[in-house]
Amino acid sequence: MRHEINLIETFATLEKNRIRNSVILLDIDGTITHHDGHEVPDEARCVIEELLRKNNLIYLLSNNKNIERGRFLARALGVTFAETPYRKPDKRTASCIPTKYADRKIFVIGDKFLTDGLFAIRLGATFFWVRSIKTPTDAKKVRASYAIDTIIRWFFSISYTMRRIEK
Ligand SMILES: [Mg+2]
Repeated sequence: MRHEINLIETFATLEKNRIRNSVILLDIDGTITHHDGHEVPDEARCVIEELLRKNNLIYLLSNNKNIERGRFLARALGVTFAETPYRKPDKRTASCIPTKYADRKIFVIGDKFLTDGLFAIRLGATFFWVRSIKTPTDAKKVRASYAIDTIIRWFFSISYTMRRIEK
């Protein structure tokens, strides 16, 4: 399967109508809440509810080591928390998908190209790349990783625009 990359602003601006009867591998930090956040904004919560109504299976899939928070958020949102020993972009992270759903289309939604984006490419999935949700309290390490991603996104959006102009 050929992957596809889409740049979007926030999770709330996702084109929900395109996604039905599919599997969604949804990142947590920077995507539906800020890094180490425990609260999901109402608009993100509404998007999740709508995606569930469209018969999608949603797995929260995070490289954050805080398993308890992942479980807590999944419970609060009515979705599944994927507990796996692997980390994105390792393809095996997707082994959380039961084999009976193996023929469903896969969407990866996340804020980091080097984890979520590469993961989607390896899976041949459609990637929705959101801008990271930031807070002034983000640690230096977190801010540095966001800065790297901003640069990658900048290069990507230029080449994306160039390709559109050439067409
Ligand atoms: Mg993230």
